[in-house]
Amino acid sequence: MARIVVIGAGLGAMAAAARLAVAGHRVTVYERGATYGGAVGRFERDGFAFDTGPGLLHLPAVYRDLFVKTGKESLEECVTLTQVDPASRHVFADGTRVDLPNASRAGTVAALDAALGAGAGERWGDFLVRAREAWDRTRRPLLEEPQPADPAPLAREPYPALKAGLLRRPTTTLAQIGARELREPRLAALLDAYAWSYGFDPATAPASAAVLPYMEQTFGSWYVAGGLRALADAVYERCRKRRVEFVFEAPVEEVLEKDGRAAGVGLAGGETVEADHVVSGAPVPVLYSDQVIGWERQDDWPRHQEIGTSRVTVCLALRGPREATAVHRTVVHAAGERPTVTVLRPDDPAVRPDADHESVTVTATVATSAGGDGESFADRMVAAAGQAVPGLRERLLWRHVRTPEDVRRDTGSAEVPGPALAGARGLLLPAANRSPLPGLWFAGGWSHPGGGLAHAGMSGALVAGLIVEGDGFRGSQ
Ligand SMILES: Cc1cc2nc3c(=O)[nH]c(=O)nc-3n(C[C@H](O)[C@H](O)[C@H](O)COP(=O)(O)OP(=O)(O)OC[C@H]3O[C@@H](n4cnc5c(N)ncnc54)[C@H](O)[C@@H]3O)c2cc1C
Repeated sequence: MARIVVIGAGLGAMAAAARLAVAGHRVTVYERGATYGGAVGRFERDGFAFDTGPGLLHLPAVYRDLFVKTGKESLEECVTLTQVDPASRHVFADGTRVDLPNASRAGTVAALDAALGAGAGERWGDFLVRAREAWDRTRRPLLEEPQPADPAPLAREPYPALKAGLLRRPTTTLAQIGARELREPRLAALLDAYAWSYGFDPATAPASAAVLPYMEQTFGSWYVAGGLRALADAVYERCRKRRVEFVFEAPVEEVLEKDGRAAGVGLAGGETVEADHVVSGAPVPVLYSDQVIGWERQDDWPRHQEIGTSRVTVCLALRGPREATAVHRTVVHAAGERPTVTVLRPDDPAVRPDADHESVTVTATVATSAGGDGESFADRMVAAAGQAVPGLRERLLWRHVRTPEDVRRDTGSAEVPGPALAGARGLLLPAANRSPLPGLWFAGGWSHPGGGLAHAGMSGALVAGLIVEGDGFRGSQ
């Protein structure tokens, strides 16, 4: 039995903690905040409740596996999962609307043909075939296995090059797919919106970001009753059942080294805790820049400051019932001054005071450095959300705006890291789970296979596999 210290109680770190405890290790989580969940938070006021992080789950298989491997009750016995159908409504800049069904390729093709004109659906379907090729080429190394010792092959673009005349013409950015292959401004906007929702600018995101719409449209989008915070509750409860100890309001300030390997952590206040392994679920760049980890690779991280994005979230408390025809998720595409926003309207009694009120969450991706007047940006977000919620202005009781600074308070970094992507010369491959210091491991969105609920959950599985099975560990499935 090893003593294992986990830094942070985010979802990736908790996924690792539960698995390590089941393998017989003594696991203690030190969390700098007063609660678990990190980004997966909840804001509550006057009987209204809002997810302040993700509002939908993709690839629930990652959490199904966690619950199967760590106890008797399955994920579905611990939380109520429902598929969101339609998966999303899109309102384009010209006012065109389309509802995309959940996980139905044929339904999506038909819906796009009906809304955007004959041929649009087929073009999207052909694109998804190519996106699937990129997914098949990268799925294992980029999601289900530890990062290979030599990640160089993953720096190459896996999205298939198309023939232009006699030559194959490589596609290097997602925006190029829109312009060259989709050739319809609204289809291109649809593709762009997927990239933005994971925090990537389509102008710079590699073509391999095509795996993101492929993943969502193939495996579906799921809501957790009570809000996504209920998933964090369930993972925390699972950790507690497996005797993982949690110490809150205990920021880790230092990773201790002895004889060339991690030997424990130093807490604020001077206390030290010895350990055989340290698993860090805290943002890797912050660990480096705050000198929690003090070795030479620190220089690898400034790129995140340049390309990183965050989120602004506006929680809207509305009077009046949610209309029967409302959809769960609407993406309102940018038009003029209005930014692209995702509007979530869960039909869930647990998140509203009564049937005569409604909780609505509006999210936009912004540059991490976006400071300034959050309220005026929120005004534009609410104006956009009006396209998804009839009578929004008249129904508004109050709103609560959350900025990148709130994200920093919840997680330790204002940036929200996206999933690992191949291509882009390897710039979007995060830190490996095995750190350069033996005995120190990285889990969570800042490490392989990157950010997002499913990916971070997978990082926990990979770290636990590497610690428990050692160098021979090849993957979690
Ligand atoms: C606003 C927002 C919207 C998002 N939307 C989506 C979405 O739509 N879909 C999706 O899949 N994902 C989304 N995400 C990302 C997703 O929530 C995360 O990738 C996921 O929750 C995994 O987080 P994590 O494991 O990296 O830990 P985090 O949630 O980042 O938590 C890190 C934890 O470590 C703690 N910590 C930091 N430093 C220290 C220290 N020195 N000592 C002790 N503890 C420390 C923090 O307090 C925090 O609890 C969103 C995130 C945010 C913030």
